[in-house]
Amino acid sequence: MASPNDLSTLPTEVRTIITINASDAIPFRARTAYAHRTWARTFSSLPELFIQPESLPEVEKAVTLARQCRRRLTTVGSGHSPSDITCTSSWMLNLDNFSRILALDPATGLCTVEAGIRLHRLSAALDAAGLAMPSLGSINEQSIAGAISTGTHGSSLRHGLVSESIVALKVTLADGKTRACSAEERPELFRAALLSVGALGVVTEVTLRAVPAFSLAWSQTIDSDARLFEGWEDVLWKQAEFVRVWWFPYMRRAVVWKADKVAKEELESGRVRHYQPRTSFQDSRLGYILYQNLLAVARWFPRITPWIEWFVFGLNYGFSNGESTRVSGCQPSYEGFLLNCLYSQFVNEWAIPLHKGPEALQRLGAWINRLQPGDPGYVDHQIPFSAEGLWVHSPVEVRVSDTTVNSSAARGNRPYLDITPDDGPALYLNATMYRPYYRDPTHEATERYYRAFEWLMRDLGGKPHWAKTFSVTPSEFATWYGDDWRQFCKVRDEADPEGMFVGPWHRRYLLGEGSASNEGEIQRLALEEVGFVHEKAKGGGFCVFGRQNPVVPV
Ligand SMILES: Cc1cc2nc3c(=O)[nH]c(=O)nc-3n(C[C@H](O)[C@H](O)[C@H](O)COP(=O)(O)OP(=O)(O)OC[C@H]3O[C@@H](n4cnc5c(N)ncnc54)[C@H](O)[C@@H]3O)c2cc1C
Repeated sequence: MASPNDLSTLPTEVRTIITINASDAIPFRARTAYAHRTWARTFSSLPELFIQPESLPEVEKAVTLARQCRRRLTTVGSGHSPSDITCTSSWMLNLDNFSRILALDPATGLCTVEAGIRLHRLSAALDAAGLAMPSLGSINEQSIAGAISTGTHGSSLRHGLVSESIVALKVTLADGKTRACSAEERPELFRAALLSVGALGVVTEVTLRAVPAFSLAWSQTIDSDARLFEGWEDVLWKQAEFVRVWWFPYMRRAVVWKADKVAKEELESGRVRHYQPRTSFQDSRLGYILYQNLLAVARWFPRITPWIEWFVFGLNYGFSNGESTRVSGCQPSYEGFLLNCLYSQFVNEWAIPLHKGPEALQRLGAWINRLQPGDPGYVDHQIPFSAEGLWVHSPVEVRVSDTTVNSSAARGNRPYLDITPDDGPALYLNATMYRPYYRDPTHEATERYYRAFEWLMRDLGGKPHWAKTFSVTPSEFATWYGDDWRQFCKVRDEADPEGMFVGPWHRRYLLGEGSASNEGEIQRLALEEVGFVHEKAKGGGFCVFGRQNPVVPV
C-alpha cells in the first residue's frame, strides 16, 4: 500500500487532499509510474495514479478522492478491449484485487462476486460447485465487469450477451456511494450498468445465475460458403446449441464449428468421455511462428496474402471440403469455448440482422476479390470504395446471438446499449487484421478495409461492438438506438453530472462535441479528461496522452 509519501510526484494540492483523508484508516492502495497497455499493444498510457482497492470502502474512497482532487477516473479490467477506451493520463482503477466469490448457491445457481474477478477464475469456482457460465466468448481472460461493460458475446441462437445471466449489480457512482440495482430495484440504472462502457461508475458487485456444469462435444468441418448460404437460417445456425464460423474470403470457404452440451451424468456414467482435439497446425509452435513470419513478409509484399491464407488454411484445416476435414473434441465448457486468438490484431465487429448474413458475405467477398460480372460468385457489392491493391487477413469471424430469448426491455435486463436487434437474432461479423510482431499492416490496408466494411455494415442496418475499432458519430448512434440512447445518456448524466467517468473516447462516441460557448470554447464537463494525443510508441502502437479539463481549477 502506498503512503502519501510514495506519491511524491503528484501535485502538492493533490497530495495534501490524500494526506488529509489518510486519517479515516481506509487504505488508498495507489502508485505512480504505472504503464497501462492494451492486450493487443495497440494503445498504452501513463496514468497519474494506478489504484488497486481490495474492499468496497476502498473503492468508494478512491472515487471520493478522485472527485475531491478533480480527477477523471477510468476503471480497467484486463485491458483486452482493443481501442483506447481504457487509456488515461488521469487516475486508473483496477479491481484485480477485488475479486472474491461472495456467495455461491449450487441449488439456485446464484453466484455473487466482486466485479474484478476474471472469467477463468469465476469458471473454475463455478465448476467446483457443479455450475458453469451459460455461454462464453472465445477467451476467459476478461474481468466479469469488463466483459459485460462492452457487450461481450459468444455464439449461439439460444443465448444473448454474457450479461444476460446477470440478475443484480452494485455500482459505485461519482458521489462515492454504492447503489444496488436489478430489474426490480433501480431498473434504469440496471439497464445502463449492464453495458456502460465505463461511463457510469464503477461496477463493484455482480450477481449472476449460473447453469448446471456441462461439457461441450464439438466438431468442425470445412465447406464452401455457397453451401452455407443455402441453409443459412434453418440449418447452419440451428444444427447445434453453439455454432461459430470462420470465413475465408479469398477461398470462399468456411470452417464451421458446432457444439452441443453433454450433461455431467453422461460423463459420470462413462457413456461419453472427455478428449482433447488433435493440435492444429496454428496451435503448434512451428505453425504459430511460420504464420506470423509469413504475415510479417506480407507487410512488404501484400499481394502474397491470398497465397499465405490458402497455404496456412490448408495446413491448418485441410485442402478439401466436407466430412474428411472433421476435427472434434469433448471438453468441459470452460475449455471448449476457448480459442487461440494468435497475434496482436485490429478487430472491427458489427452486429446485423441474421438473415442479412449471406448478402453481407457475398457483397464483401465480391469486393475483396474485385469480382467482375461473369466471375463465379459475382454480386454487385455497391461499396463505393476501390479494393484495388488491397489485401486483407482472414478469417472473418462469423457468430450469432439472440438477445430476445432471455432478455428484453420488458424483463428489465436488456442493456440500453445492446448492439443486437431487439426483435430477432443477430449476426456478428468480425473483420480481423493481424499485427505480426506488433507491426501494423502497411499501405493503409486496415483503414481501407474498415472503411468499406463499415460502409457495408451500415448499409445492412448494423451497429458496432463497443469494445472494438469503429468510427461512428454520437448522432448516428442516437438515431440507431433512439429512446434507448436518450435513456442511457439521461441515466449517465444524472449519475455522473461532472463527468468523472468521461474521457475522450466517450466524448468521441457518446457525448459528441456539443455546441461552442460564446467564447468559442467547446462545452466540457468539469472532471472530464480531454484532448487525447496519440504518439507513436516504441515497438508499435500508440501512447495516448490526455489532460484534465483545463478550465477547472484544482
Ligand atoms: C483476444 C480477444 C478475444 C476476445 N473475444 C471476444 C469474444 O469472443 N466476444 C466478445 O464479444 N468480445 C471479445 N473480446 C472483447 C472483450 O471481451 C472486451 O474487450 C472486454 O471488454 C474485455 O474485458 P476487460 O476486463 O479486459 O475490460 P477492459 O478492456 O479493461 O475494459 C472494457 C470497458 O469496461 C470498463 N470496465 C472495466 N471494469 C469495469 C468496472 N468494474 N466498472 C465499470 N466499468 C468497467 C472499462 O472502463 C472499459 O470501458 C475479445 C478481446 C480479445 C483481446
